[in-house]
Amino acid sequence: MALIVQKYGGTSVANPERIGNVARRVARHKALGQQVVVVVSAMSGETNRLIGLAKEVMPNPSPRELDVLVSTGEQVTIALLAMALQELGVKAKSYTGSQVRILTDNAHTKARILKIDEERMRADLDQGYVVVVAGFQGVDEAGNITTLGRGGSDTTGVALAAALKADECQIYTDVDGVYTTDPRVVPEARRLKSVTFEEMLEMASLGSKVLQIRSVEFAGKYKVKLRVLSSFEEEGEGTLITFEDDKQMEQPIISGIAFNRDEAKITVLGVPDRPGIAYQILGPVADANIDVDIIIQNVGADGTTDFTFTVHKNDLSRALDILRDKVQGHIGAREIIGDDKTAKVSVVGVGMRSHVGIASQMFRTLVEEGINIQMISTSEIKISVVIDEKYMELAVRVLHKAFGLEEV
Ligand code: ASP
Ligand code: MG
Repeated sequence: MALIVQKYGGTSVANPERIGNVARRVARHKALGQQVVVVVSAMSGETNRLIGLAKEVMPNPSPRELDVLVSTGEQVTIALLAMALQELGVKAKSYTGSQVRILTDNAHTKARILKIDEERMRADLDQGYVVVVAGFQGVDEAGNITTLGRGGSDTTGVALAAALKADECQIYTDVDGVYTTDPRVVPEARRLKSVTFEEMLEMASLGSKVLQIRSVEFAGKYKVKLRVLSSFEEEGEGTLITFEDDKQMEQPIISGIAFNRDEAKITVLGVPDRPGIAYQILGPVADANIDVDIIIQNVGADGTTDFTFTVHKNDLSRALDILRDKVQGHIGAREIIGDDKTAKVSVVGVGMRSHVGIASQMFRTLVEEGINIQMISTSEIKISVVIDEKYMELAVRVLHKAFGLEEV
């Protein structure tokens, strides 16, 4: 008998009526003879509301108590969905993360799953129950409630699918799949029938927020068959996330254009061109837990060089303070400049591995629009450029067209 794990996001369970729709969909799968485990998020907006409440009481809420609080959002939706299923005459039982025993480490608000006890779920499934599990939460060794980071219900879904060796993990959301780019920027964007894990990882990390990135990593590691679908459409096959080696067909060269408005650029001008400088600049930044993305150092001239890197816009002022206070004088840099009017645009595709000339086609397309490239970074399946934020949408549109990604 096929076993599937379905995950429904916050907009899919936003009110009792939608919870009823989810229950009907689950019932249809049950009627096909499938065993179903359902993971749900909190009602949309609920997690934010709870975090807001916490901050009114304590500006910097303690992580342990925050987890106790925000995990209640999912406890509401599992109970309501189990009731909605029972109302349809479907046997259903709900479980919190700790009741299942989704064991995590103790890193509150960003815990990682260590182990899942599946016996209880298995026993229920064998007795014909639909098992409804709260997303986003777990419990540590000492019994403290933990949560998995924003968007963590995706990871719960994939982790349960891995633990139960499910035939498929279906992520139901408010879009009907993964697109070649954001349709709000390019109306001609096309739904992809399939995309590889590596491409999905790149796109997720580049800001295409369909899936929590950790869920994709998890699925890749445990070879979980993952599908993204719309919970608002009756039919539709969504987007299947595949492994490259599964694929018989030749890959399209480029699968999508990703973009990210969240990166800011920092330039350290006139640093001495000697060993250890990169470490002296980035060490204190890393110590402050600030993530660095693209890094560029120019070849030196006259014994000095410039060093440029990007950080999240939220971290820009903190990073500049650290560099000006702790680093500039120490290494004798001339000036430190921050620029938050930047955006990153990337073309992604595993087909790049076997095709040359993608970078030059990308750069030609941008120059034809007079768009200046400030930074470039590449990997085997991705080319990213940092450009002026005000040209971001234009860049995405022209690249989408240049690589022939539009709806045919
Ligand atoms: N409710 C949590 C959040 O809003 C987890 C999730 O929805 O995946 O981040
Ligand atoms: Mg989500």
